[in-house]
Amino acid sequence: MNIESIKDCYGCGVCATVCPRDIIGISLNVLGFYEPVILDSSQCIDCGLCCEVCSYLHDELSLQKVEIQSCAAWSKEKAVRQKCSSGGVSFEVGRILINKGYKVCGVRYNTEINRAEHYIASTVEELIPSIGSKYIQSYTVDGFKAIDRKQKYLVTGTPCQIDSFRRYIRKFKKEENFILMDFFCHGVPSMLMWKKYIKEVKKTIGKITYLSWRNKVINCHDMKTMIIDNEKIDWHDSYNLLVKGEKGYYNSRLSQGDVFYRLFLSDTCLGKACYEKCKFKYDRSSADIRIGDLWGRMYKHNEDGVSAAVAFTQRGWELLHECNLEIVEHSFDVVAEGQMKEMPICDELYKRMKILLQRDDLDINQIYRQLLIALKYRKVMNRLKHPVRTMKNILKKIGK
Ligand SMILES: Cc1cc2nc3c(=O)[nH]c(=O)nc-3n(C[C@H](O)[C@H](O)[C@H](O)COP(=O)(O)OP(=O)(O)OC[C@H]3O[C@@H](n4cnc5c(N)ncnc54)[C@H](O)[C@@H]3O)c2cc1C
Ligand code: SF4
Ligand code: SF4
Repeated sequence: MNIESIKDCYGCGVCATVCPRDIIGISLNVLGFYEPVILDSSQCIDCGLCCEVCSYLHDELSLQKVEIQSCAAWSKEKAVRQKCSSGGVSFEVGRILINKGYKVCGVRYNTEINRAEHYIASTVEELIPSIGSKYIQSYTVDGFKAIDRKQKYLVTGTPCQIDSFRRYIRKFKKEENFILMDFFCHGVPSMLMWKKYIKEVKKTIGKITYLSWRNKVINCHDMKTMIIDNEKIDWHDSYNLLVKGEKGYYNSRLSQGDVFYRLFLSDTCLGKACYEKCKFKYDRSSADIRIGDLWGRMYKHNEDGVSAAVAFTQRGWELLHECNLEIVEHSFDVVAEGQMKEMPICDELYKRMKILLQRDDLDINQIYRQLLIALKYRKVMNRLKHPVRTMKNILKKIGK
């Protein structure tokens, strides 16, 4: 028995990591999501390891007994907080563990092939590319395979990647060597969408040399508005892509209509598993620590960024308190305010998007335009479903 028949799974790559014959590859499927392929089934020895570690094949989480402890947290170092997506918890946890002799398996953006990928950092300097969320699915296999289970590691990833990874280290009785960290996860968008987006950006700025999804300052030439300044962006407005290329810079924010963020956050192009098989929303995790953006009312006036930090193990909780972090303990519902509690709804728009993304003749802006009316209609219908909330938002805007 092996994972041969599995389709539309989490694409976590742990099956490929564990396979003793090295016959499982992970590649993008037609919809732009990672999926396993058996490269040579005649070499399969039927050991069943790939199925054993696969989170997709199990209904229960790999971490069963949890005691949730939660807090708001942010780095005591201003520069770290400015670079990271929210409060910089991820970097501070990585930094302290590296100083204790651990390595970190985190995610960087590879500008050569325009993908996010797991890699190993052994020094604090090597940890820097892992700073900041890359809002696309990461390719895990090279990073996971480079892990020596006898050594100590922090491994970060989406909750589904982490759930499979815990099964993997448990199988080899090595859990004590690892600290696992995931995040509240909205889902991952199709790489078809990302490739179309980046193709348009490259037309303006040439080959990409640097990319940040959550840029908190505008310190460069904004190609859209042609403005050069050093404006600090309120953290709440930091869905702000900064792309540097050989011919210039590109800056684009959700609040100004960025097409990537509009499509990603409209839930029209996420992985099938994110709609149908995600068992990791809200307080469900197999990590020691879960991080996220603390968007709730408690910190709504904070402009620098606050992380939500949740520990599911005592080890995780103690580690958070050792880091270079300001910590304010809160109940879980305060820390997780605004996070998704259920899977997103897979509606007609998703089906249309699937077809549009596969068309080579359409660019990202043409696709967005084709969906625009339907997206607006959906927004209006949602508002009508929640009249009180809508009124409150309108009054808030008038007040501002
Ligand atoms: C696809 C995706 C969806 C997310 N959805 C939500 C959400 O719904 N709600 C929420 O509050 N937060 C979400 N986050 C997390 C959020 O963006 C911040 O990472 C979080 O607030 C922690 O911020 P930080 O400043 O501590 O760390 P950051 O500086 O953001 O560090 C990011 C950490 O995540 C890892 N990482 C980055 N990109 C990826 C990736 N593509 N796959 C796996 N690991 C990655 C890095 O290795 C690093 O350890 C999401 C992140 C991603 C990548
Ligand atoms: S969910 Fe992960 S372990 Fe399971 S088949 Fe897919 S890639 Fe392999
Ligand atoms: S939403 Fe769920 S299934 Fe999708 S990437 Fe995140 S954890 Fe995995």
